[in-house]
Amino acid sequence: MSETARIIDGKAFAARLRKDVAAGVAALKEGSGITPGLAVVLVGENPASEVYVRNKSKHAHEVGMAVFDHRMPASAEHDEVLAMVQSLNADPAVNGILVQLPLPDQVGERAVLAAVEPAKDVDGFHVINAGRLMTGETGMVPCTPLGCLMMLKDTLGELKGRRALVLGRSNIVGKPMAMLLLREHCTVTVAHSRTQDLAGECRRADILVVAAGRPEMVRGDWIKPGAAVIDVGINRIPAAEEGKTRLVGDVCFAEAAEVAGAITPVPGGVGPMTIACLLANTLTAARRQHRIEAAAD
Ligand code: NAD
Repeated sequence: MSETARIIDGKAFAARLRKDVAAGVAALKEGSGITPGLAVVLVGENPASEVYVRNKSKHAHEVGMAVFDHRMPASAEHDEVLAMVQSLNADPAVNGILVQLPLPDQVGERAVLAAVEPAKDVDGFHVINAGRLMTGETGMVPCTPLGCLMMLKDTLGELKGRRALVLGRSNIVGKPMAMLLLREHCTVTVAHSRTQDLAGECRRADILVVAAGRPEMVRGDWIKPGAAVIDVGINRIPAAEEGKTRLVGDVCFAEAAEVAGAITPVPGGVGPMTIACLLANTLTAARRQHRIEAAAD
């Protein structure tokens, strides 16, 4: 196979989406005097979480949203975090609430996520929103799979009838991704750590979404020629240069790009779309809370 896959440029796509969100925010401010507000709760000092939160806040500011940053110490009690979420639920200036995971051990993650008002749950992690996605009702959709779906539709157009394989079954990526593809009328298989003949399952797929957290696990000969490959994985591995590291996905990009029809790179694929979708969800949440229709969607 000497063809080279089309590279799906998540960075450029995300920049376009952020521009659309910024236009939507401006229209909302002008038409109704409403500034969409995103509250970000960070508990503790996890360095990776600090970077994520800074990035999310920066992008939210850039599209014209109000950002409410709430830093809590690593020693914060479960009830204190719950009280924070409840006060944000009650605050009309806050349209979206994001609780950065992971939380310290003494804070019950499940209870905290369940305390977020579903209409403000811009991460789409609440069981009510998971249920709405499952039953086809309108809710908030988790940002990473939403971004993957947008890129797939942009690349392939109609998804109906295509054979899709989702590798990974986490609540934040794999399961909602499978539901979204089902909603688009794909024939969906969900593979996971106990799947037999994983390579064979992957090879049958027209659409392959990989979210396993295993560096370069999916090889070129696992991919159906011409398939669309979305690589969600973000893994830091040692680089050739001593002491340095580099980011790779769950797919061996060099091999896969020789076989696939289209593929997302890591970095620069799914990652930037996740943050852009968080902003899109926050705008959607603000509109819904004020019962305002989007102008053109
Ligand atoms: P997770 O660990 O919760 O789930 C991984 C899933 O992969 C599990 O369902 C497991 O069954 C499956 N799996 C693991 N090893 C496997 C194997 N050897 N064979 C088959 N299946 C296997 O992970 P997650 O939160 O879904 O994240 C997955 C990856 O996506 C990670 O690398 C994570 O960093 C990345 N991620 C990226 C973004 C983004 O914005 N780009 C967002 C979320 C997660």
